[in-house]
Amino acid sequence: MNRVIITGGSRGIGKACVERFIREGCRVAFIYKNSREAAESLAASTGAFAVRGDVADPESAAAAMEKAIELLGGVDILVNNAGIAQFALFDQISEQDWHTMIETNLGGAYRCSRIAVPHMVAQKSGAIVNISSMWGISGASCEVHYSAAKAGLIGMTKALAKELAPSGVRVNCIAPGAIATEMNSALDDEAIAAICEETPLGRLGRPEELAASVFFLASNEASFITGQTLSVDGGYIV
Ligand code: NDP
Repeated sequence: MNRVIITGGSRGIGKACVERFIREGCRVAFIYKNSREAAESLAASTGAFAVRGDVADPESAAAAMEKAIELLGGVDILVNNAGIAQFALFDQISEQDWHTMIETNLGGAYRCSRIAVPHMVAQKSGAIVNISSMWGISGASCEVHYSAAKAGLIGMTKALAKELAPSGVRVNCIAPGAIATEMNSALDDEAIAAICEETPLGRLGRPEELAASVFFLASNEASFITGQTLSVDGGYIV
């Protein structure tokens, strides 16, 4: 049975991933930061372990990862999903905004992977799936720091995939398009309609559709795939 750690599992895409891996018979621990009630309710309904931690903080992230590994008795799959977004003109992005964005979306994946990788290398198997964004490929106006962090995740995926392949560990990445989660709750109806119009499939994606791709890349069905970025965006970027 696979032992799976998902960061940012309390809501949205991460929550859908928790539910999918549980349904597939895996043992799952997920890390969350603020949404305690949602996390406890998800843990109760699925049997997954909820572990509080801040992936942007080195000590907190390491402690949460160690706890998750202890609860699961090891780790076979890591999904680096925790992330934040912020809309701001470039000249309004403060040093603190930049730091928080990079340390959450990119640094979080670095430090959680750093704890998981030695376990995977020792057992000569494992899979990491990083959640980037289509903006990490194409860049988004008014989201320079977010786009930079997500582009960094794609670079990290490629480099780590090459480094860990000889140890039997695969590293892949997903670049979601616009998905119906709280992350997009600030967008008004007009903005959502505009995104849908620009998306060939004509709608937002569902968290479950992302979870299906995460599960595929983590599973043995993807045993000859590493270093790749899979766009799950309704055809937005082709
Ligand atoms: P949500 O805002 O719905 O959920 C974000 C999750 O990340 C929550 O579980 C939150 O936990 C967790 N999280 C945030 N910061 C931290 C932190 N410092 N430490 C630990 N956990 C943290 O976002 P989505 O589900 O929409 O997004 C998931 C991922 O997908 C993100 O990386 C996002 O960038 C990416 N993505 C999303 C897209 C979309 O359209 N929704 C498009 C492209 C990419 P808590 O609530 O407990 O703080």
